[in-house]
Amino acid sequence: LREGDEDQTDRALRVLSAVFGYDSFRGEQAAIIDQVAGGGDAVVLMPTGGGKSLCYQIPALLRSGTGIVVSPLIALMADQVAALEGVGIRAAYLNSTLERHEAQAVEQQLLAGELDLLYMAPERLVLPRTLDLLGRAELSLVAIDEAHCVSQWGHDFRPDYLGLSVLADAFPTVPRIALTATATEATHRELTERLRMDAAEHFVASFDRPNIQYRIEPKASPREQLLRLITTEHEGESGIVYCLSRKSVETTAQWLSDHGIAALPYHAGLDASVRQDHQERFLRAEGLIIVATIAFGMGIDKPDVRFVAHLDLPKSIEGYYQETGRAGRDGQPSTAWMAYGLGDVVSQRKFIDSGEGNEQFKRNARSHLEAMLALCETVSCRRVQLLRYFGQDSRPCGNCDICLNPPQTWDATVPAQKLLSTLIRLDRERGQKFGSGQVIEVLLGRENERSRQSRHEELTVWGIGEELTEKQWRSALRQLVARGIVEPEGDYGVLVPGSQAGPVLRGEVALELAVDRSPTKPSRSRSG
Ligand code: ADP
Ligand code: ZN
Repeated sequence: LREGDEDQTDRALRVLSAVFGYDSFRGEQAAIIDQVAGGGDAVVLMPTGGGKSLCYQIPALLRSGTGIVVSPLIALMADQVAALEGVGIRAAYLNSTLERHEAQAVEQQLLAGELDLLYMAPERLVLPRTLDLLGRAELSLVAIDEAHCVSQWGHDFRPDYLGLSVLADAFPTVPRIALTATATEATHRELTERLRMDAAEHFVASFDRPNIQYRIEPKASPREQLLRLITTEHEGESGIVYCLSRKSVETTAQWLSDHGIAALPYHAGLDASVRQDHQERFLRAEGLIIVATIAFGMGIDKPDVRFVAHLDLPKSIEGYYQETGRAGRDGQPSTAWMAYGLGDVVSQRKFIDSGEGNEQFKRNARSHLEAMLALCETVSCRRVQLLRYFGQDSRPCGNCDICLNPPQTWDATVPAQKLLSTLIRLDRERGQKFGSGQVIEVLLGRENERSRQSRHEELTVWGIGEELTEKQWRSALRQLVARGIVEPEGDYGVLVPGSQAGPVLRGEVALELAVDRSPTKPSRSRSG
């Protein structure tokens, strides 16, 4: 150790305790701060709640000049700045919400060296005018928060981030630190390249959040399942419930309220003032539930969120992990719970297929979805799978639904063959493709309008699946879809043999599926 290093580490610790009131660094914070305060670049991958902010805030205080913080979260800048001012840090932000004269005042403070930290969105930073302004100021560092947004094939691409590559040339002597809670190797590589962080030191924290219990169950009646989770395990505690659509956000929040649970909606379609109000109430109050689309949560720092619930399947494991990571920042036991069904897969496929974006983009979105689905239908430790997705090895955790209650498996080879044969017969002999409902009716040999019209009872596959119940077929189907043996296709999610169907049909593999564990539908009496 050189003497200077020791000094710097001591100074960092002094700032940590004098300014932030903490007595020790967590994980790799000290090493990261050392690197950046010493003038080097850093790429930091740390899970949500890991403590990324201090990694640039403290170096900015240790170095002379102003630290620029690039963040996509304009709505949170005022809060973040207020929090910093609260501990005596000279902070400000530049964004479109400021009046002209307010922005000018901030620019003057910057040039006069009166700011420790200045927040701005990427689209603002890359304006020639802003780059010119920054060129005339003394900069201590540039921090690029949510750096995964530069990844074109990631789950949260923001084109404005691409422009941040100019920083390397514009301010060659200013240290840069890129931070993200998204840690696949592909994203890591891509952001390093696109942000031109080739000389950076890399800090990859463990992504494990051992206090979070991961649980995924099949959808039966999702709101009732959610209500049961809340009343039996999290009564009076704070939680976040994620839904895919604005409409289901509204109806779910209302439904919970009708059942005596304090819940507020949050989505991008609400008035900014209503959103702000609900967010603030959630942050301050105890025991309030926020029902939200994924518009909610980035940058939210509430330590005592006891559960995060997903009523719809997230689009990717990255998104899921970030969202569930908002539970239990205080390290106390917390729950990440999800209900999902085949309908989710069908609607997301449809959304991808009919959505914008080129073929490569869609292929990507489909593979994100497939990975998510595999997590849902896994028969081994969820945490091991999650961490493996982020390139980290671990052992079965003992704190997920699978570890706590290992699923029994059964040999589903023959039923899977029967199902595939049914899809093939329907297509070949009737030119028909159906969604799961009608396919199961054929397997069970149950007559209905459609089967009569198409004379399904004349098919050799009619009723060949009677050894399983409808519920068991649904469970098997979900698992077969997750393994690519069956695929939902097109707008209606009609089922077709998937890329992995061949070996099953030819009897080359024995197929072990988990015994169904979906809750039985509760009585309708509680539903509204
Ligand atoms: P991230 O940005 O990685 O999600 P934050 O920077 O918001 O995480 O930090 C999460 C929480 O942990 C915050 O409440 C923060 O004050 C707290 N925290 C961070 N570092 C420390 C530390 N060394 N000691 C105690 N608390 C810390
Ligand atoms: Zn586990």
